[in-house]
Amino acid sequence: MPCVCSQYPPLELTRAAINKRIKATPALLKPLGLLVTHAAAKLKLLQCPQCGHYWQTGWEWNLGGTEYAYQVPAIEVAEWLREPYLQPAAWMVYAALMQPYYAKNTFEPSGKPCRVAQCPHPAIKFSGVCEPHHIEQLQEFGLLPKRPAGRLFPPYHTASA
Ligand SMILES: [Zn+2]
Ligand SMILES: [Zn+2]
Repeated sequence: MPCVCSQYPPLELTRAAINKRIKATPALLKPLGLLVTHAAAKLKLLQCPQCGHYWQTGWEWNLGGTEYAYQVPAIEVAEWLREPYLQPAAWMVYAALMQPYYAKNTFEPSGKPCRVAQCPHPAIKFSGVCEPHHIEQLQEFGLLPKRPAGRLFPPYHTASA
């Protein structure tokens, strides 16, 4: 029997989609091979023995703390242990918290480069830095919710998406 990996597109960031995935996860995990467990974060990195795709588990207190599996880009085990991938449910919660900020603010480029050394992005108006650095600074000052832990991967890049 062929594997089901290609039938699982990136997790949609809705409670319904994540709850559905939680239900599907025990069956999804069965054929996968466990590569390593991140004991402190209670996360697993797995690989499909048929197509080679990588999967990770996540869990969210908000959704009962039950684990769910999702596909992630291939990665070295040591690298993953250093920083596991972002968990989509945590990103969903974060995006919801950030939504009012994005709704209130438009970011126009000021025509100047970002003040942060080596940053390739243009600065935005009324700020000396680019949009990602502007948001980062507000987060450092506790003026915006903090980005959840974890390595970013597509399609989870910006909370405004
Ligand atoms: Zn597969
Ligand atoms: Zn920047």
